[in-house]
Amino acid sequence: MATTDKVCFDRILPNEVYRPHPGRMLMLPGGPARAAFEIAKLWQNQTTLHIRFLNGSAQQKQIVRQFAPQWTEHANLTFVLDDAPTAQIRIAFNDDGAWSYIGTDALGIPANQPTMNFGWQDEGVVLHEFGHLIGMIHEHQNPSANPIQWNKQAVIQALSGPPNNWDPATIQHNMFDKYDLTQLNGSEFDPASVMLYSFPQTWTLNGFHSEANDVLSQVDMSFAEKVYPGRNGGAGTGPVELSVFEGALEADIGQPGEEDLYKFTARKAGRYTIETEGPTDLIMKLFGPNSTLIAQDDDSGIDRNPRIVTQLTPGEYTVQIRHYNTTAGTGTYSIKVGRS
Ligand SMILES: [Zn+2]
Repeated sequence: MATTDKVCFDRILPNEVYRPHPGRMLMLPGGPARAAFEIAKLWQNQTTLHIRFLNGSAQQKQIVRQFAPQWTEHANLTFVLDDAPTAQIRIAFNDDGAWSYIGTDALGIPANQPTMNFGWQDEGVVLHEFGHLIGMIHEHQNPSANPIQWNKQAVIQALSGPPNNWDPATIQHNMFDKYDLTQLNGSEFDPASVMLYSFPQTWTLNGFHSEANDVLSQVDMSFAEKVYPGRNGGAGTGPVELSVFEGALEADIGQPGEEDLYKFTARKAGRYTIETEGPTDLIMKLFGPNSTLIAQDDDSGIDRNPRIVTQLTPGEYTVQIRHYNTTAGTGTYSIKVGRS
């Protein structure tokens, strides 16, 4: 059982179940789909995530408290295990395997339901599920120089039975589907990642197998620092002030993976438009008070620029801009916000 018990099920939101999953590379003819699921699921840098336990013993909670903060030594996020009634992250200890929603998907889950579950607890599984929480995917679904050649029959046979009892679609989604490279912040395949499942050699055709990785790898740590910069020096300055109606602000993505943050104040309720212009292919997310995600967009504007048009109540809002291609993309753009 040691080889099959450490698997988890990345919950996807119900509305994604009924649509083709454009963030996945499903080996479709005509090239990869253009969308940005996993990048779109990253938290705004410096977000404070409140965490509430829905059940569990003191000892179970302690294991989470002990190991989860390893991520925030690298990622510029804050985990507060304060059982806040409005906590964005809710942890259950049910006999339901180990799983987590990925990144900001947690915000779409009803407040009385878990966003993460621990059917068992140890350092490795806590780090793995909290990796999903900050937006990481399974390493075996990393398309970059991936050395795994699955013995699909063996994998299907193992995972169809207990304790997983996965149906064929779940096995396909969790094991064989790979991501589009442009969706990911990860680089090379990392056999030491805590996000790699452990599995035996009999599951592959080329001798590849994986031991349980119970600690963060160097790549895991540098991923977290790159995606959520500022914890250990470097970037992490506050958002740039954007004035409504004041014309466009010139900016650029200078480094691959860079995140630009803007804030603006909506003084009146109304319909606001936030958009970029220029040659750079960007992704935009709009956050409201308490880091709630209001909207996100990839290509609604001119060329491949994002544009968000939405009704806002008075308050402070934050706009996050990233390049569509976080592994290589840089370029200039301008950004403006208006009310109609
Ligand atoms: Zn997982």
